[in-house]
Amino acid sequence: MGHIYYAKPSITELEVRYAADAAANGWGESCYGYISRLEEAFARHLGVKHAIATSSCTGALHMGLAALGVGPGDEVILADVNWVASAAPATYLGARPVLVDILEDSWCLDPRKVEAAVTDRTRAIIAVHLYGNLCDMDALLDIGARRGIPVIEDAAEAIGSIYRGRRAGSMGAFGAFSFHGTKTMTTGEGGMFVTDDDSLYEKVLTFSNHGRSRRQPRQFWPDVVGFKYKMSNLQAAVGCAQLERIEELIATRRRVFAYYAHHLRRLPVRMNPEPAGTVNSFWMPSVVADPDVSFERDALVEAFQAADIDGRVFFWPLSMLPMFPNRPENVVSRRISARAVNLPSYHDITREDQDRVIDLVRSHIRKGSTQ
Ligand SMILES: *Cc1c(COP(=O)(O)O)cnc(C)c1O
Repeated sequence: MGHIYYAKPSITELEVRYAADAAANGWGESCYGYISRLEEAFARHLGVKHAIATSSCTGALHMGLAALGVGPGDEVILADVNWVASAAPATYLGARPVLVDILEDSWCLDPRKVEAAVTDRTRAIIAVHLYGNLCDMDALLDIGARRGIPVIEDAAEAIGSIYRGRRAGSMGAFGAFSFHGTKTMTTGEGGMFVTDDDSLYEKVLTFSNHGRSRRQPRQFWPDVVGFKYKMSNLQAAVGCAQLERIEELIATRRRVFAYYAHHLRRLPVRMNPEPAGTVNSFWMPSVVADPDVSFERDALVEAFQAADIDGRVFFWPLSMLPMFPNRPENVVSRRISARAVNLPSYHDITREDQDRVIDLVRSHIRKGSTQ
């Protein structure tokens, strides 16, 4: 029985061929060939006007927030349960992440808590689509429109998720994606900034080129201090191949999730939801134990590790970390984070391997059950 990873990229002969071509030929006049192709194909896939390839999602968020004018003393609202990468870019700009509680079912931002957290310093709301689950975008966009605050989508975990006909990442002022090796689509490291807003696009394009505007006739003349978050042509070559295979990559995640969901359906747990009118790309299948069941998360993670399976805890509430103010009032965040684990998901995980995971979850929850 082999080791079960929690995530693994799906790399075929196509990725290898494109990468080899970029390594051999993607220089000189062709040095942006795969980058431009990836940006155009990605914008088309998402149904947005503009896309800028970046070295990471963190970089895309950093430049996008800077282009929106987020600065010292400003506040940026996001959900407490998150990977730190969603909160860090605001801090780079001297702004303060305001961490609000999540909903029971989606594990994403609670719009009523967002509304209550808005102040006259709020400059952005970051909607993170956690583990492929979609935020309540109608409610968030409504708050944003009424209060004059841009809503941003961190869709790093949600390529393939669709909200009422619109793709995750295409609905906000801008969207940010990650192509880290653990994500549904990968370039090793990498990301994408997307927007429909022409002026925001121009600003981020200038920022991404070390502050050099494409309209600036002088050579090596930055107009502002910019950033260096570019994707290389080599990485973009792998990305072009992955994007050609995107429907297959998403279908894989959905198939792995469906098998878990079917075999865990009688347990007192909740898994990633897929409400009517949405498609969940199920980046990371996750199990949250019901409140009335006794559940030892750490014991389950240890049991995974003992069985040669990557045990992965749900993200911690960021407000429990030393660098952010404590927010014990975010009770849903605290409870869910402590009672949840992620399950392994990748293209060639076998049914037998999924059964090993299922048996452990089942035995563990049954063992701990108070019923
Ligand atoms: C992975 C991830 C990021 C960070 O992506 P990088 O490309 O590593 O910067 C940001 N936000 C979310 C929600 C993520 O899952």
